[in-house]
Amino acid sequence: MRKKLIAGNWKMNLTSSESEQLAKDIVSNLDKKVIAKTDVLICPTYISLEVVGRIISGTGIKLGAQNLFFENDGAFTGEISARMIKEIGCEYVIVGHSERRKHLHETNKIINKKIKKALEFGLKPILCVGETFEEREDEIYEGIVEEQVIDSLADITKAEMNNIIIAYEPVWAIGTGLNATSKQISDMHLLIGRAFNKLVNENAANELLVLYGGSVNDKNSKEILSASGVDGALIGGASLKAEEFAKIAKTAAQI
Ligand code: PEP
Repeated sequence: MRKKLIAGNWKMNLTSSESEQLAKDIVSNLDKKVIAKTDVLICPTYISLEVVGRIISGTGIKLGAQNLFFENDGAFTGEISARMIKEIGCEYVIVGHSERRKHLHETNKIINKKIKKALEFGLKPILCVGETFEEREDEIYEGIVEEQVIDSLADITKAEMNNIIIAYEPVWAIGTGLNATSKQISDMHLLIGRAFNKLVNENAANELLVLYGGSVNDKNSKEILSASGVDGALIGGASLKAEEFAKIAKTAAQI
């Protein structure tokens, strides 16, 4: 059985000193045995990457960024490059989160450029896909998610595809307290695997990690993480509570 990945997306929360404290609390709540059996990842804001990286250094907990820009460097005020987040110690980067698609108008085309840049610098992109409530109601959600996968991962080599992780995050379940059912999750993870296979032209989805994200907490994590095709979770709200986040990682280690 391969390791599950439990990833915390801290979003635009916490100052550097607050991030330092939360990272310390997570380290003290996480048993070494859990970290040995589960990959645990923390994605703080850019300005807290360094301090959080220092706190988790040597613990086995991994560091990730929440975004990157698709150029190497230059006149792009306010942006951060793959090279910068790599040097500061990130192994992962979240790309195409629905909040960025909504508030920053990120398209599949932009996301594709960001993923290519992340891969070029040896970062593992966590590509977020997922439908809105209206798209599910209108029964167009399968096509939407398939398109997000195919377009965001266009023109990426088969070898590079080994470093891609996909997070299925129905927008209606993010931060709402609503969860997709195990069946809805498994069906969508299967669909994502099929879209991925189409891209690489072979049965490569067996190796692909597909996470679920959307109001995962310590109460529902066992059921969600046990659902067929679920290789881990991308967690927002509950990742800001050290004890709860550690409990979810413990649950993942026991499945
Ligand atoms: C997320 O930010 O990706 C997320 C799933 O948030 P939450 O767990 O709060 O729904």
